[in-house]
Amino acid sequence: MAELYDELGRYIHYLRVAVTDRCNFRCQYCMPTEGVEWIEHHDILRYEELLRVINAFASLGVNKVRITGGEPLVRKGLLPFLKEVSQIPGIDEIGLTTNGSLLEEYAPLLKEAGVTRINVSLDTLQRERFIKLTGQDKLSAVLAGIKKAQEVGLTPVKINMVVMKGFNSDEVANMAKLAMDHPYQIRFIEYMPFRVGENYLFTSDEIKEKLIEAGFTTLIPQMKSNSPARIYTIPGFQGTIGFISPVSEHFCASCNRIRLTPDGYLRPCLLSNEEFSLRKDLRSGI
Ligand code: SAM
Ligand code: SF4
Repeated sequence: MAELYDELGRYIHYLRVAVTDRCNFRCQYCMPTEGVEWIEHHDILRYEELLRVINAFASLGVNKVRITGGEPLVRKGLLPFLKEVSQIPGIDEIGLTTNGSLLEEYAPLLKEAGVTRINVSLDTLQRERFIKLTGQDKLSAVLAGIKKAQEVGLTPVKINMVVMKGFNSDEVANMAKLAMDHPYQIRFIEYMPFRVGENYLFTSDEIKEKLIEAGFTTLIPQMKSNSPARIYTIPGFQGTIGFISPVSEHFCASCNRIRLTPDGYLRPCLLSNEEFSLRKDLRSGI
């Protein structure tokens, strides 16, 4: 079986596929409420084009695919597409990252279609804040979606909280407590300042300090895996907590992934603007 290495010798076996740039939320740090330049529909890769690309990567040893967006669950026809991805030889893990708003309905269908794991983004447990951040009154729907994902076995359910200084940094302990009675993995992600002038960074060290202040004094590190998250168990907790520190502690050396944008660009690195268009070639009959 072929294997894919980059020029720094890193083994690339994880493909992240953004199936759409559209979303039913308007998270303040991700999508402005006005002036978004949407990708034209005809420029978004069709499912058969996505399948060609995923097949090609699978033949190069990629065994893990993550479906993301925008919000992947808003793209029509997603379930049959996922089913086809799950049948590609060599693909043994399909993850999906979602805002969770449609997950209660979708979780059983995703499981049936071959999805193995779910990551849900959830930045606050306070209804008013949730509305302020996302523009939608959907906190209860997201919590119901998380519960359903656990019930149908899309596990481990990972909950991603982007921690922002002065906005939700006071909620890290409450968020960690979700792992007490549920086998969830709560992951605290450092805010990445994609726009100039933003100052919301609250580092993983600051998050840990907050947790210690709140009584989380015993965090037991788990063995390091391929994931960029550093995971800890807590005595008496069913779940775990984790820290993803793209700003304070780069994990570039262990990077194993490559990304495909909705309009068919390959992006080797999230923090670089370098990208390569596959769409023209795909459509010119290559
Ligand atoms: N709509 C889906 C969701 O929200 O999970 C999938 C796409 S969303 C762009 C993927 C993840 O990127 C979310 O967890 C979101 O919080 C995260 N994200 C977006 N902007 C970010 C930023 N500036 N810093 C850190 N994470 C960010
Ligand atoms: Fe961005 Fe995901 Fe929020 Fe949508 S739900 S605005 S894609 S972070």
